[in-house]
Amino acid sequence: MNYVRPKKHLGQHFLKDENIAKEITLSIAETTKNLLEIGPGTGVLTKYLLKNELLNLNVIEIDTESVAYLKTNFPQLEDRIICEDFLHFPIETLFNHESYTVIGNFPYNISSQILFKVLENRTQIPEVVGMFQKEVAERIASKPGKKTYGILSVLLQAYYDIEYLFTVESNVFVPPPKVKSAVIRVRRNDVAQINCDDKLFFRVVKTAFNQRRKTLRNALGVFTFDADKLPADILAKRAEQLSVEDFVNLTNALILN
Ligand code: SAH
Repeated sequence: MNYVRPKKHLGQHFLKDENIAKEITLSIAETTKNLLEIGPGTGVLTKYLLKNELLNLNVIEIDTESVAYLKTNFPQLEDRIICEDFLHFPIETLFNHESYTVIGNFPYNISSQILFKVLENRTQIPEVVGMFQKEVAERIASKPGKKTYGILSVLLQAYYDIEYLFTVESNVFVPPPKVKSAVIRVRRNDVAQINCDDKLFFRVVKTAFNQRRKTLRNALGVFTFDADKLPADILAKRAEQLSVEDFVNLTNALILN
């Protein structure tokens, strides 16, 4: 078997540029030991990762045809292939509950969901290096005041430092996606615990951005705040103007029923 027919519903765009593949695999921290590749497809990244014998590599791939291809072409990978849906797999059980890095040219149709799952498992995932739709990569790296600044920017930046590494044109994929791509690296910051309740913080951020055109007074109408704890004038602002720290302060001013 030497070919996998790309399936649109699985977001399959196979990278053909070996230099880009190599560069992505070289972007993980040198100290990486445990590594999970999401969506290896036909193994363009995997083959470079396998060359590094210090790496303890596992791959998770939903497509049985790709898995058959990998088993044929990379026999040494055999018992490290998990043929499952990443979004439904209990990833905390991987690597004996040790921490691990995540890498991949991610399926674009579920890239946000992959990142939300990473966030849920942030204590175990110190680093993610991966290819995203350029627009998603920009959103993740975006700063307050920009149109692209949103839920993912705030939640990820609360726990991770984001680096936009490079842009990738669509003609290096088969089939080419309609949009450009970008490789980013996210590394866990040194904030062990943000200064407020995580779950409430997530709720406040999501609710604020769900009606991002409104002022926070309106967008966050379902919440009650302790006026003494609120930073001055904050409710007159809109979600996209707030830093991570502002959202933490806002969360700490909540009055819980
Ligand atoms: N890494 C390969 C393939 C990228 S395409 C390359 O760069 O060429 C995205 C890959 O993710 C495909 O192989 C697709 O089958 C896989 N995939 C899609 N949804 C998935 C899911 N929910 N869990 C695991 N893998 C998935």
